Amino acid sequence: MSAPRLEIDLAKLHHNACTLVRRLGDRGIQVTGITKATLGSPEIASTLIRAGVADIGDSRIENLEAMCDAQIAVPMTLIRSPMLSQVDRVVAYADVSFNTELDVIGQLSRAAHEINRTHGVVLMVELGDLREGIMPSDLECVVRKVLRLPNITLKGIGTNLACRSGVSPDVKNMAELSVLADSLEATFDISLMTISGGNSASLEWALSHAETGRVNNLRLGESLLLGCEPLRRQPIEGLYTDVITLVAEVIESKIKPSQPWGELAQNAFGEKFSASNRGNIVQSILALGHQDTDPSGLQAPLGIKILGASSDHLVVDATDSNLLVGAEMSFQMNYSALVRAMTSPFVMKHLKEPNIIH
Ligand SMILES: *Cc1c(COP(=O)(O)O)cnc(C)c1O
Repeated sequence: MSAPRLEIDLAKLHHNACTLVRRLGDRGIQVTGITKATLGSPEIASTLIRAGVADIGDSRIENLEAMCDAQIAVPMTLIRSPMLSQVDRVVAYADVSFNTELDVIGQLSRAAHEINRTHGVVLMVELGDLREGIMPSDLECVVRKVLRLPNITLKGIGTNLACRSGVSPDVKNMAELSVLADSLEATFDISLMTISGGNSASLEWALSHAETGRVNNLRLGESLLLGCEPLRRQPIEGLYTDVITLVAEVIESKIKPSQPWGELAQNAFGEKFSASNRGNIVQSILALGHQDTDPSGLQAPLGIKILGASSDHLVVDATDSNLLVGAEMSFQMNYSALVRAMTSPFVMKHLKEPNIIH
């Protein structure tokens, strides 16, 4: 089989998704399965749907289009504020989009009217992480205007934390979201269907507090795919952390000194060499590099140490494992390495036969 490749175990993914759908369901919280780290893979989306996610979300309209074209037939949400240049595609392919700008919602209204559709809007609220979101003090004013727009329905509100600044979801900011929902409903005499309390980083809050207020939705990507929570990157109990592994092939294996010689300047990526002298080592090279993944997000198997990487070469110390040319090696990945590998045209995606019990 060709390398590098991602081995994707759909049965393990199904298990992870079932587990979190059940744990959150017990607390009245639905799961939106987020596919953006998978380039909108229809197979991954349908595995998540079989596991019970309520709908599918992605940050790229291209991915939603690909899944629609592959007959994925659940509601689709664009979880990034639409580009003005893409509003026509957004109303054609997404049932709902996350929004923070009235200009954009106005254009969604126009575009939805043109094709005789109604487009759902979730307003994102800024609660401290300083990525997307309407400031809470401006929310009422925005809602008043959104409610007047034809062909737009206000589906709910949401927030996103822990992505840009690492602000953790906690009792205080999650309660603020609930208070905002209550107050909007009272002020405008409306009912909000979705109160979306965040991404995988909100799991710990959602599963460890008896009171989750109005939050009835979480948007999960990383926790389903990697079995990890993103605040401290600890494995989540009962989940697989090896749903997806990256396999690469050895193209050189030689005994070499551990220290370079000659005058040292910057390498191709602006870094300077630093490593202790360990005499001669078995140095192996895998056909894998920055064009395929984020090498700093790879976890090598026991006994192998990653020494460095350039665009197309990953250099490892294989003194303890004697890798032969042609041998394959599997790596576990963090989110950054996963996203890069999933979106690299050089990396083949191999879906392991889904052996799923319905
Ligand atoms: C990426 C993203 C998610 C999913 O985040 P994970 O950490 O992968 O669970 C949820 N919501 C928004 C707005 C996102 O951009």
